[in-house]
Amino acid sequence: MKILVTGGAGFIGSAVIRHIIDNTQDSVVNLDKLTYAGNLESLTEVSDNERYAFEQVDICNRAELDRVFKEHQPDAIMHLAAESHVDRSIDGPAEFIETNIVGTYTLLEAARAYWDELNSERKQAFRFHHISTDEVYGDLPHPNDEDSNAIDGQDLPLFTETTAYAPSSPYSASKASSDHLVRAWLRTYGFPTLITNCSNNYGPFHFPEKLIPLVILNALEGKPLPIYGKGDQIRDWLYVEDHARALYKVVTEGKIGETYNIGGHSEKQNIEVVETICAILDELRPRETATSQAPHSDDEVIASNNEVIENVPPVIASAAKQSTASSYKSLITYVTDRPGHDRRYAIDASKIANELNWHPEETFESGIRKTVQWYLDNQQWCKNVQDGSYQRERLGAL
Ligand code: NAD
Repeated sequence: MKILVTGGAGFIGSAVIRHIIDNTQDSVVNLDKLTYAGNLESLTEVSDNERYAFEQVDICNRAELDRVFKEHQPDAIMHLAAESHVDRSIDGPAEFIETNIVGTYTLLEAARAYWDELNSERKQAFRFHHISTDEVYGDLPHPNDEDSNAIDGQDLPLFTETTAYAPSSPYSASKASSDHLVRAWLRTYGFPTLITNCSNNYGPFHFPEKLIPLVILNALEGKPLPIYGKGDQIRDWLYVEDHARALYKVVTEGKIGETYNIGGHSEKQNIEVVETICAILDELRPRETATSQAPHSDDEVIASNNEVIENVPPVIASAAKQSTASSYKSLITYVTDRPGHDRRYAIDASKIANELNWHPEETFESGIRKTVQWYLDNQQWCKNVQDGSYQRERLGAL
């Protein structure tokens, strides 16, 4: 079959495309606007494959979408194109409303018009898979909450497919809106949709504004490793290649009208994530003593904007103090928390396990080690992102 993947030059979309080209006989049309987050260098290994095609198109552009549907005649759509960075959504929500809501609406309408014209056999087989986030559910009780009776996070609730929506940020609100549109198109027009909501992804080709690649690359450059607030926010981490396998299972085997939650069974506090990366780097790429200057004194923790953060919880502050100057941990720097920051996300992925027999293959420990090693082995990809030269690929793509 031929699958149209929107946002295929992004972090997860490129993993999906590599997975499809490497492991199936299906063809892929990658439809991507190439915003700052779109990087064709993440697709170098598949770009010459005859089953791969690229279209530089904005999902808000109806005429261009109509043209692409007519020319490529896809059998299914995997919709990943989005503005995806929470911090950017707080600084400037407009693009999130435009791409995530108006763009999803425009894509739904173009896809529905195309689907309407298909012969009955192809119409029956067609599917529109919308990729969304667990952030639409808001946040969950945290083991550190005063009213929590949980011991070590046991017995705390998880997000299920029926959890009520309660988004906190402009990003998650825009994704929640797009989920509602997709469900409404199913219910009102009988348009065959599926939705997946996943937890935080990590792995190769991740844009360095996100926590894990930012920490790896900053550490290698001896720069501060910024941690929001106390660093005790909990996220469930999902290795991107496990996610790509799950998404392909859903688009090919999932039941129309269903929602599937996808998670990695890996709840970690942000500080644990950062300390784990530091420990792996200490082992794989020990710091040179000459560059091992701690970014803060023993008595205070200074944010990257030179603001002194007070009231850092003693246990975390002392962990930073204990780290030797030659460990990457000494670069950890606490910065003012993000407004409205959700405390805990955690996914119950039993539905996709039971119904589609999908299970993550990586534990956090194995996946994070692979990820750190990938960043060490792919410095050129990182350098091209950091100096902006990856964006020159766009000109070649036009
Ligand atoms: P990303 O930011 O890395 O990639 C997004 C891609 O969409 C980029 O290639 C960008 O160029 C493209 N794009 C943006 N606006 C567009 C537009 N108007 N028209 C066409 N293309 C456009 O994002 P990601 O991390 O790969 O996330 C992919 C999807 O998965 C998103 O929908 C996101 O909400 C969802 N998601 C991501 C995570 C995560 O941890 N990364 C977690 C849950 C859900």
